[in-house]
Amino acid sequence: MKSFGKIQQLLFNQELFMLSLEQALDYILETPPADSMKNIETLSLEQAHNRVCAQNVISPINVPSFDNSAMDGYAVRLKDLTQSMTLPIAGKSFAGNPFTDQWQPLSVVRIMTGAMIPEGTDAVVMQEDVTVNEDGSVTFNTLPKINQNIRRVGEDVKQGDVVVKCGQFLNQFSLPLLASLGIPQVQVFPRLKVAVLSTGDELVPVGQPLKEGQIYDTNRFAVKLMLEKMNCEILDFGILPDREAEFEAAFIDAQKQADLVITSGGVSVGEADFTKAVLEKVGKINFWKLAIKPGKPFAFGKLEHAWFCGLPGNPVSALVTFYQLVQPVIARLSGVAKYQRPMQFPALAAKNLKKAVGRLDFQRGFYQINAQGQPEVHPVGFQGSHMFSSFMQSNCFIVLERERGNVCAGEKIGRASC
Ligand code: AMP
Ligand code: MG
Repeated sequence: MKSFGKIQQLLFNQELFMLSLEQALDYILETPPADSMKNIETLSLEQAHNRVCAQNVISPINVPSFDNSAMDGYAVRLKDLTQSMTLPIAGKSFAGNPFTDQWQPLSVVRIMTGAMIPEGTDAVVMQEDVTVNEDGSVTFNTLPKINQNIRRVGEDVKQGDVVVKCGQFLNQFSLPLLASLGIPQVQVFPRLKVAVLSTGDELVPVGQPLKEGQIYDTNRFAVKLMLEKMNCEILDFGILPDREAEFEAAFIDAQKQADLVITSGGVSVGEADFTKAVLEKVGKINFWKLAIKPGKPFAFGKLEHAWFCGLPGNPVSALVTFYQLVQPVIARLSGVAKYQRPMQFPALAAKNLKKAVGRLDFQRGFYQINAQGQPEVHPVGFQGSHMFSSFMQSNCFIVLERERGNVCAGEKIGRASC
């Protein structure tokens, strides 16, 4: 783990120092894979979908494994065409049914896309560029270039190439690539076990009536959906009441069963906020204050057997911090070698945006290409961190730099994150 500079450490200890998102990410991206990742599994390609590859996969074959045609047309020898531009057809080569006869000089072979190139062929001329005569011969309008429309052995993948690396995600691109090489199985890391719990006396699970002062538990559901998307194994620890002893017992229990424990709420400095104190007591805090909005109180640390992410209670903050911070934590713990951050695009502000200097803002926005062909972002809904409905009209976060103040319509936004 990276260590802070002396001054930063001092400020951090005094809780005056807010880590930037970049510093937090540097920290997170040094997290080693979870211990459970040592239990490598061998799965069929179908079963391996959305897993992380645990081996360097080497291609057993060349792709293409034989020279073949990229077009429907005629396989030719250039030497023949220099003698006559009109030649008879000696036979056919179709995909799966190659031309096997003796190829006579001064003739061509009818060939289809994907069909094996007859030996000695220099080029394939597409059928649109020839005239087929009544006597069955073919007249070429122009002389083709050497190798034209021929896909050569190994030009896509060479035998012995590493095609998928250890730590790469197995998805709709990498798995069909393995299938195209005839590889039936692949070694993968196990699914990450993640314990999820919400904290707060006010929380009620969906399906029960609300009493005065109570609210429904949004975060546990939102977090579970995000975890499902990331193919984690979810251990649902329900809702914790605001009592320190209950926090302690639940954290200890959860970390025995999981690789990562994710809580929400109770991470700030209120009288009923026990997350940080309990994490310090039964584990270790790496950082807990970030200069981002929403999401300032976010705790990252380690319990005896599991890593720990404490999300803020406000649902928008919980989701923003999950998106920006927990996703890379999960990627690293799951064995992903190179984490791809959410994509970001430059855009213009379509309207004035309110922004206070000091924290990196993630405002909910709508990204589109305007009538002038320029990318622009509109702020949508209410921006309060308790106002989850703002997500309904948004398709991106408007990312506003820490040092920036209010933004006027027409100003450049460095990044919109989709
Ligand atoms: P806390 O950090 O525990 O003080 O919570 C901050 C705000 O988020 C409070 O208004 C809580 O009621 C709310 N909150 C905390 N947890 C959840 C949750 N799981 N679902 C919805 N709102 C929550
Ligand atoms: Mg609370």
